[in-house]
Formats: sequence, C-alpha cells, structure tokens
Amino acid sequence: MRDTLKIGPIEAASGAVRSGLVSIGQLADGVTEVQIPVVVLNGREDGPVVYLHAGSHGQETIYSVEMLRRLRGELDPSLLRGALIAVPLANLLAHQFATRVAPHYAAREGVAFAGDIHKLWPGDAKGSLTQRIVHFLWTNIAQRADVAIDLHAVGEPGIPFTFMYRGGKRDAEGTPQWEKTLALARAFGVTMVTTAPNPLTLAGACLDEGKPGLMIEMTKSRMQDDAIVAAALRGIRNVLIELRMLDGTVEPQRDVPIVPGVHPALPTIRAERGGLIRFEVACGAFVPAGTVVARIRDIFGTELEAIRMPADGYVMTFPPQSWVGNQAVATGDLVADIFA
Ligand SMILES: [Zn+2]
Repeated sequence: MRDTLKIGPIEAASGAVRSGLVSIGQLADGVTEVQIPVVVLNGREDGPVVYLHAGSHGQETIYSVEMLRRLRGELDPSLLRGALIAVPLANLLAHQFATRVAPHYAAREGVAFAGDIHKLWPGDAKGSLTQRIVHFLWTNIAQRADVAIDLHAVGEPGIPFTFMYRGGKRDAEGTPQWEKTLALARAFGVTMVTTAPNPLTLAGACLDEGKPGLMIEMTKSRMQDDAIVAAALRGIRNVLIELRMLDGTVEPQRDVPIVPGVHPALPTIRAERGGLIRFEVACGAFVPAGTVVARIRDIFGTELEAIRMPADGYVMTFPPQSWVGNQAVATGDLVADIFA
C-alpha cells in the first residue's frame, strides 16, 4: 500500500516488513504479558489487504509458523500489490502446552467455548482474556482486511483440505463473497469441503461482512514436515496470484493427495465406546457406506466397537491424535471427519 499500515504498535511503511507483539493483558501474576505476534508485509503499490491468521488452536501452528518464515524470505514487498497482515500464533497460551485450548487458562474464562479462539468471533472488548484477543484481531485486522485466511491443521492420518463455512449468521451461498471464497480455495489447490454456516468462526464472521473467508486444514499438525510446509506455501502464493497481488500463474499442488471437486462435509462420527482405536481405511480414498473405518478395543485387546461409514464418501482425517495426542478415545470423542 502507498500508505503506512499500523496494527497496534507495529507500523510498516510502504514497501516495508515489520513485526512485533501486541499486549492484551496480564496473567495472574500481574507481570506476565499475554501477547499476540503480528507481522505486516506492506507492498509498494495499493491492492487487497489479506489477513493470514494462524494458531487459533495451540497444537496446529508448527507448519504455519515455518510457512510464514519462508514466505517472508521469498516475498519481495516491492513486487507485492496490497498488504499481508499475518498472525503466526494467535493463542500463545495454548501453544505453551501444545493443546487446542489452554487447559489451565480455560478454567478462568467463564464463557462458552472457553479459550477456543476458533469459536469466539468477533470477540468482546469487555469479555474474557481470549474474547479480548479475538476482539483485537477482529477490529484491528479482520475488519480492515479484504480477505481472511484461517490456517489450521489436522493430525495424522489426514489429507489437507480447505474447509469452507457456507456463511455466518446468514447462508452466503450465491453471494459474491462466497463465489470469491470458492475461487480462492480452488487457487489454493487442495481438496475442497463445504460445511454449515457458523457465525462464531473467523470465516463465517467475514462472510457476514461481505468478504471472503477461507479456512485451511493442512496435516501433521504437531510436526514440521517439508512437503506440508511447501504445499501450504504454494497454496498461499496461489491465493495472492489469484488476487492479483503477485504476478505469476497458479501452480497446481503436486505433493499431497487431492480428491477433485467440491464436497459437502458429513456429520463427524463419534465413538460410542471408549478405548484404543485402530484406523482401518486410508484418508482420501473412496469408502462405500457400511465399511468399517475404525475399531475400538479395551486395554485387554477385546473389541468393543466397529465404527462404520454412514454413507458413501471419504475420511479427511481421524481426529484423536490431533485433539488429544494419541490413538485413544473416550465415549463421545470425535473419531472420523468425513465428506460425501
Ligand atoms: Zn484448528
């Protein structure tokens, strides 16, 4: 942008890259700051402002931090039209424990979805600490951006996909912002999955405001994997090219499995019985209705439940490893995220 871009205390003049921390409050010792890291890449010429948001979930951000490091290394701001505002790790509290939310902190929140930044948009300036983090991000970055991209990751096993909430309070299907969201997802280049509108998500809140909002789910959430980082980097470059912020042509993804087309998500399968879980099908492979996708056994090895695919479709990921950290579930835990 020809103008200086200022986010909290971070100011990037035209053609400059600046990063820093924004303080939101303090922990219970009175001296430890709760902060949000922000990177501003301000292009030389005017163009769209893209919000790259990562780390709503503390265990999912290893790849996106590395992807942003590489993006900063290869992006020449003098060739960028518009600006990128990146938050590499929105929930530092959850990152400290490599967990989805900060368990020690969630106990203090006193609100629904305690500590889960993914389900608190657009935040609340007078609310809990996590609601205040979201409020800052919403009012200072998302509202001035033209596009928001929300970076997440599933665990192993899984395939990368773009997860598209079809709106927020209102269904966005048929609107220009929905068509633009689909176009950006196509440019990113991984499997495309749509799901019900949700106003509490960053993407849903953006769609309500008339701007595209796209959620990305890469894989290997707890690892720094070169193929995944490269695919994420290629996807973001493709989005910037699609938005005409960079010159070049959109490059197809080549290192990750892709199911062509646009697919509706089906309700996530949950476990009826607790125990250790064995996954029986490959993610991204077609699975006919009735096929056993996972088996649950107790600690003596006795099979307790065979979980079957409810309809023809695909498994995009088995969540236990990402959500909790190992291949075991309690009754009611998420077992398989699926699409038709
Ligand atoms: Zn997530």
